[in-house]
Amino acid sequence: MRRFSPRPSGRIAIPLLLAAALLIAWALHSGRLVLPPAWNPWAPLDVAAPPNALTRYKLQRLADDPALCHAVLRGTTLVHTPVPDHDAGGGCGWQSAVRVTDARFAPAFTLTCSAAVALAMWERHALQPAALSHFAQPVAHVEHLGSYACRNVRGDRGEGAQRSQHALANALDVAGLHLRDGRRVRVLSDWPREPSAEASFLREVRDGACRFFNGTLSPHYNAAHRDHLHLDRGPYRMCR
Ligand SMILES: [Zn+2]
Repeated sequence: MRRFSPRPSGRIAIPLLLAAALLIAWALHSGRLVLPPAWNPWAPLDVAAPPNALTRYKLQRLADDPALCHAVLRGTTLVHTPVPDHDAGGGCGWQSAVRVTDARFAPAFTLTCSAAVALAMWERHALQPAALSHFAQPVAHVEHLGSYACRNVRGDRGEGAQRSQHALANALDVAGLHLRDGRRVRVLSDWPREPSAEASFLREVRDGACRFFNGTLSPHYNAAHRDHLHLDRGPYRMCR
């Protein structure tokens, strides 16, 4: 009886897969294969499109490409103005940042471009949908505790203490959310109030932030964050 030939060994299959991946990459990059922009890793981030598996990769690319980042940010509704780079010494200052002068986020603050894109995407794809589903109305104002501060990570003192992402204007602390009817949802008072619409809204807002920011810290993380959500585009992934 005829026997089926054995499966190709790993020694053959791996180079074949690599060759196929390279061929697809080349076809995409050279324009011979056309994918919808949302699924093309080389297409710029479309902030209005529903986020997908490539969104995080595209956001990450913006941090290394200031011109692309500013172009993407101009496509958002976030009112802002680019600001010159600033070296404050001692590991503080910012690069490729903007001044966010949007009334929805007043008072104005300085934020890196890539964090500002993450903020705009969070507002559009996580914050407003959560507000509509829990309260049937949008958030009119995001109450914050500021972005830039030349300081270490809270509680990190002494030699080798780590600079906070706030020292690079790469983080924003959100203290509360004001709904259109004037109602205020505050992290300090509403986060612990379980079960309530406010507490579940805040958890959903935090979970949504984890999709666009690298560091997302809530009162669940530690006592230093009992009154705000810390959102940053730093090098570490944390969703707590
Ligand atoms: Zn913070």
